[in-house]
Amino acid sequence: MELNNEIIDDFLFCKYRAYLKLIGQRGVRSDYELVEEELYVQYKKQFLEDIESYYKSEQIINPVSSLDKRSRLSPSLLINPHVKGDNFLISFDALRIVSHANARKKMQSIPLMITPKEKVTKNEKISLTIKTILLNSVIPKFSETGKIVFGKKLLTSLVRIKDYRKIAQKMLDDLTALSMENGKPSIVRCDNCRMCEFEKSCRKYLVERDDLSLMGSLSAAEILKRNKKGVFTINQLSYGFRPKRFKRARITGRPFSPELKALAIRDKKTYILDIPFEIKSGMIEIFLDFEGLPDENFVYLIGLIIKDKNSERGVCFWANSQTNERAIFQKFVKTISGYKDFVIYHYGSYEIRELRRAVCFR
Ligand code: SF4
Repeated sequence: MELNNEIIDDFLFCKYRAYLKLIGQRGVRSDYELVEEELYVQYKKQFLEDIESYYKSEQIINPVSSLDKRSRLSPSLLINPHVKGDNFLISFDALRIVSHANARKKMQSIPLMITPKEKVTKNEKISLTIKTILLNSVIPKFSETGKIVFGKKLLTSLVRIKDYRKIAQKMLDDLTALSMENGKPSIVRCDNCRMCEFEKSCRKYLVERDDLSLMGSLSAAEILKRNKKGVFTINQLSYGFRPKRFKRARITGRPFSPELKALAIRDKKTYILDIPFEIKSGMIEIFLDFEGLPDENFVYLIGLIIKDKNSERGVCFWANSQTNERAIFQKFVKTISGYKDFVIYHYGSYEIRELRRAVCFR
C-alpha cells in the first residue's frame, strides 16, 4: 500500500494504528477526532481567505495535477499540492517556492501545514519533516525550513528540517518496512488511546490479557524490561511487591511502585503508605477538581465538594471563555476562605499547576 498523510500521522500516533489502516481496517472515529477535523477545516478556510494578505507579492497557484519529478517550478505559492513518488502520494496545505539566498542553490521550497492544535507538538514537526524528505526525493528544491500554522489565531511555528531529519528518517524507514512486511506491531495502551477510533477493540484485547500497559503508569521501555523477566500481566506484577525493597526506594526519593499499584488492583484495595499529615477529626474536607484545556492554558470549570460533619454540598464555577477565567478563580478563593479549618484533596498535579498559574493573574 502506498504511504499517504494519514498513514504517516497514524504511525506517529501509534504503530499499531498505522498497521490496522495499512491492512484496510477502519474504526468509529472518536468525538475528539471529529472535533479536530472540524477545526482543521475551519482554520484552513480562514487561512486561505487571509492568504493574499500573508503572501502579498507571490503568485498563488492551486495545482490541478500532482507534482512529480517532471514538474517545473518557479517562485510561487502552491495551495494543496499533492506530491507523487514511487510508493507514496502525500499533500501539503501549501508549498512556497522561493529563490534561495545562496545563488548556487537557486530555489528552495518551504512546506506548510495547518494544525487545529493550540500548541505544536514534536510529532507534528516530525510529520512535516517526513513529508519534506519525501517531497525532496521528488522535487529537488532543497527545504531548510517548514512552517506549521496552528490554533485559532493562525500563529506560525518555524521548523528547522535538519533538527528533525534524523528521527524523521528513522520513522520513515520503520514505516516503509511495516508497509512492505505487514509484521504486526504489539498493542500497547498509551495516552492517545482514549482519542482513537480503535479504542474499544484494543481495550477489549488488553483487558482479556490483563496486559501491563493497562496500568497507565509504565512506559513502553519499563513494560519491555518486565516482559524480559517473564512478567506480562498485572496479576503477575502484583506478586513482585517487596515492602523492604520499596522502603529503600522511598529513602532514595522514588517512592512510586508499579508493583504496589498492581497489588492494589488485584486486592481491590487502596494502600496508603504514609499519611502525609495528621487529619484532625472534625476538619472540613474539600474535594477539588479542575477541568480545562491545557494547550490553551485555560481552566473552564472548577468543581468542589465540601463536606463537614453533618452535610455535603457541591459547588461549581464555569468560565464560558478565557476572559471569565480569572472570575471563577476569584469565586473559588472566596468560597474556601469562608472556612477556617479545612483540608483540600485533589488528584494528580494539574490542579496545583493551574493554581500556581492563577497566582500570576494580573
Ligand atoms: S487504541 Fe491505542 S493501541 Fe489501539 S490503535 Fe489506537 S492508539 Fe493504538
